[in-house]
Amino acid sequence: MNWTPLELPVGTLYCIGRNYAAHAAEMNAAVPDDPIVFIKPPAAYRNNGSTIQLPSFSNNVHHEVELVVVIGTDVASITREDAWSVVAGVGVGLDLTARDVQQRAKTNGEPWAVAKSWSGSAPVSDIVPTPQCGRGPWDLSLSINNEIRQQASTASMERSVADLIVFVASVFTLRAGDAIFTGTPEGVSQVHSGDTALARLADITSLQIQFA
Ligand code: MG
Repeated sequence: MNWTPLELPVGTLYCIGRNYAAHAAEMNAAVPDDPIVFIKPPAAYRNNGSTIQLPSFSNNVHHEVELVVVIGTDVASITREDAWSVVAGVGVGLDLTARDVQQRAKTNGEPWAVAKSWSGSAPVSDIVPTPQCGRGPWDLSLSINNEIRQQASTASMERSVADLIVFVASVFTLRAGDAIFTGTPEGVSQVHSGDTALARLADITSLQIQFA
């Protein structure tokens, strides 16, 4: 497919929790009634080909491969039917998570910001612009050192891209350059210094990352 990667300044990264039932189950959690949303700042972003330094404050960083939807138009209110009109493109990203820090935060009822939003915690592939990307569903996969760890179709998302755009826009207002990480399927596991990760969104775009 012939396309030129979308170029937009990176805005706020909205991340959705427990949007695949099998991942919620592996975390011993239920699919929530309302979307779980947390935020990563622009400084969490890294582009394709980056080397990511694992944070010194964690002994257990997990990969979470996710469809990433990039927004091209400021929007505070939109219908489900019109939601795709504000999408500028899609890519594949990793919601890197300091699982040990997150578990302590959950136990203590504290926020997830340190566990989820550290510098380098949000690598994303080149973004395939609309209309070349289509509207899915797509197969997502993640390999570590050439061994498949996560593989699923975005068709198994509990809430669709359109539903997530409607919800996030209505609560926060979406701006051009913001992105939504749409949740991870099952198979999350630890990454180590020296590992290479390769994430794919069908055959349309991919993300390769080295961990240090
Ligand atoms: Mg996630």
